Amino acid sequence: MDNILVTGGCGFIGSNFIIHYLKNNLDSAIVNLDALTYAGTIDNLSELKNNDRYTFIEGDICDRDLIEKIFHQYNIKNVIHLAAESHVDNSIANPDAFMQTNILGTFNLLDVAKNYWMISPGVYKEDYKNSRFHHVSTDEVYGTLGEEGLFHETTAYAPNSPYSASKASSDFIVRSYHHTYGMNVVTTNCSNNYGPKQHDEKLIPVIIRKALAGEEIPIYGNGKNIRDWLYVLDHCKGIELAFKKGITGETYNIGGRNERTNIYIAEKICEFLDHEIPCESGKSYKDQISYVTDRAGHDYRYAIDASKIENELGWIADENFESGIELTINWYLNKYRNILSN
Ligand code: NAD
Repeated sequence: MDNILVTGGCGFIGSNFIIHYLKNNLDSAIVNLDALTYAGTIDNLSELKNNDRYTFIEGDICDRDLIEKIFHQYNIKNVIHLAAESHVDNSIANPDAFMQTNILGTFNLLDVAKNYWMISPGVYKEDYKNSRFHHVSTDEVYGTLGEEGLFHETTAYAPNSPYSASKASSDFIVRSYHHTYGMNVVTTNCSNNYGPKQHDEKLIPVIIRKALAGEEIPIYGNGKNIRDWLYVLDHCKGIELAFKKGITGETYNIGGRNERTNIYIAEKICEFLDHEIPCESGKSYKDQISYVTDRAGHDYRYAIDASKIENELGWIADENFESGIELTINWYLNKYRNILSN
């Protein structure tokens, strides 16, 4: 059975992806390499405890000796690379870890994979002739949009935060390994994900948690910033499709065609909670929304044109924001039930 190395599998998207992929691909095994930073937890994968097609290794993608050991020990045939420092606010306060993990970590993985799979530029060892490196990236590499327009695969990169600059750098390194060494790579750039298992620090979990705790729900600036929201399972299906069917060297944008302002999201969640768990005071959770000082360099709008992956690979988002958010809130209501019982 071929082993796929998935990095960052204990995080939000990685854990959803591994569970989805193993369920859908009974002939595959996954080795999950994750450093278990504050953002990752093995609890996200507790349902795989007794799955003999799943192996967890705690370790850092910047540790080259470890990566070489993993490739040899598990005869890694493919890589799906998700490990990253991913929170923009943290990248503003502490950019160092973003440069290390997102840039140098990606380089390490690519370079070890190249040496393990290839003989010389353009020439793969027979056993690895179908081996692929799939890089998971973000739409934030394209910078920000005004009221109009969409990010296409051909849009020029213009990253604005240390996070997006580090991801843009990693995309370029991946691209260079295709053009220089003929490596079989595919990159997917996706929009904002939401769904079960996202870290408590991200917008949607924060809104739900603060609402339930009776605390102020902080919304940056005037709440008018727009993101294109993608349900995490739809993203996982897109990664799987591009990994299996994408054309080598190509990039695919994955987005939900679900542009929503931050204030719309906060109000939508409050309305749902008002209906499901009305406040004893009779007030709406919306009364807890509070505008706070805007994030430095806050990009105004992101929106993706997903027609390439839709038309060429047949991807389609199964959820729109209104259906996906209900699934998501119900999952968090279970997670935060301790808040509710206080
Ligand atoms: P996350 O922060 O939830 O998870 C990241 C995981 O990587 C964690 O489990 C963490 O422990 C691990 N990790 C961090 N540094 C590591 C290192 N040096 N070595 C090994 N493991 C390390 O992130 P996520 O939201 O699941 O994002 C996954 C990928 O998708 C990232 O590459 C991110 O840039 C990209 N992405 C995310 C979104 C989104 O909305 N969440 C949108 C577009 C792209």
